[in-house]
Amino acid sequence: MNGLKRIAVVGASLAGLRSVEFIRRAKFDGELVLIGEEKHRPYDRPPLSKEVLRGEADEDRLALRRKSYEELCVELRLGQRAQSLDAGAGEVLLQSGEVVSYDGLVIATGGEVRALPNQPSLEGIHVLRTLDDALALRAALETKPRVAVIGAGFIGAEVAASARQLGLEVTMIEALETPLAQSLGTRLGRILQEVHERHGVKVLCGRRVERFGGECRAESVWLDDGSKVDCDLIVIGIGVSPSVSWLGGSGIEVEDGVRCDETLATNIPGVVAAGDVASWYNPLFEERMRVEHWTNAVEQARHAVSTLLAAPGEAKPFESVPMFWSDQFDIKIQGAGRPKPGDELTIVRRGPDEEKLIAIYSRAGRVVGAVALNQPPKLVQLRMLIGKRGGLDDALKIVES
Ligand SMILES: Cc1cc2nc3c(=O)[nH]c(=O)nc-3n(C[C@H](O)[C@H](O)[C@H](O)COP(=O)(O)OP(=O)(O)OC[C@H]3O[C@@H](n4cnc5c(N)ncnc54)[C@H](O)[C@@H]3O)c2cc1C
Repeated sequence: MNGLKRIAVVGASLAGLRSVEFIRRAKFDGELVLIGEEKHRPYDRPPLSKEVLRGEADEDRLALRRKSYEELCVELRLGQRAQSLDAGAGEVLLQSGEVVSYDGLVIATGGEVRALPNQPSLEGIHVLRTLDDALALRAALETKPRVAVIGAGFIGAEVAASARQLGLEVTMIEALETPLAQSLGTRLGRILQEVHERHGVKVLCGRRVERFGGECRAESVWLDDGSKVDCDLIVIGIGVSPSVSWLGGSGIEVEDGVRCDETLATNIPGVVAAGDVASWYNPLFEERMRVEHWTNAVEQARHAVSTLLAAPGEAKPFESVPMFWSDQFDIKIQGAGRPKPGDELTIVRRGPDEEKLIAIYSRAGRVVGAVALNQPPKLVQLRMLIGKRGGLDDALKIVES
């Protein structure tokens, strides 16, 4: 332990709460403050686009902590945005005017949804990041609207699937060649497009939104090929940006998120970052990255805390194989690694079912990524192999076993 007396954690969601828990598990017995902009206690986001939208889970089921907060001995400042940081003085200024002092700081402010250029503020346009967003969207879906989803990344594709499972008319619009092209590549993207189409989603790829129709309420979306999609509700899911505006002028280096070294330490001593907001150098892939997935937020929280509490010079690099999952209709997608366009792709089908397969991405013989559709145990083994810098032959042995 390195003599810290008061640690502040900014961002009261997955990475922030897990940081608080890991700090106490590491026997830190000083003061601990958790600051969060949302009024809710930390809750889980993945069900928001799935069970919550479909009306199968409500707020109580989402709690990220079932045990009491009292036993964490943490001062909770919920519903309070951190407005700015004075890193020299070791102070976080809250919107309420309160100043929270610290000698150790974890930044876990995650991401916020991106807007389209010239996005109008019409009724009926929704985004999905928070529980409040999900509850508002769920209530709107109950009125049986025709839904247009803009963006076919994970959130867009999940929202489209959930809305369709509710029996609604759904059109999903994507600028790239296929859904999920950026994360999975176009070959898998095409397979998932077929899954959506088979379930009745109208998928329009390679088309950009030019403008929205409607006076007060959104009524249509005009696309760059001159076509128009009539709708009663629009969900915009075009990705998130890291929540770093509050760090302006603080001296914390920001570059697509909070810029960390390989140990998750920022450029200011005593300040670390974790989760969707953290950009770090991952030695395993020899590149800087920022990962917006659940497992990463938990693993980084554990690691950032160990860096914060380490004796000088003792912090270790965070070498990680990013991992994600997504549920769309009856397909469980799981992925690991860091595939890029240009990697060699080997697809192994597991039986006659088109949607039961494993895709392995390799670069110069080394496996750098794997995606499994409806094959959970294999993905865990492949993730371990990627972490050991394993080769394609070993990956194929795992797949065939
Ligand atoms: C709808 C949805 C579905 C998802 N599904 C999956 C899935 O199936 N699989 C998967 O792997 N991942 C999924 N994810 C991603 C996963 O939930 C995120 O990676 C994870 O929530 C990141 O946690 P975080 O704590 O880093 O950031 P966040 O969860 O974004 O939390 C950051 C918190 O910080 C708060 N904050 C921001 N700025 C300030 C400030 N200045 N002061 C105080 N508080 C602030 C925010 O209000 C927020 O509560 C999903 C995400 C969403 C939104």
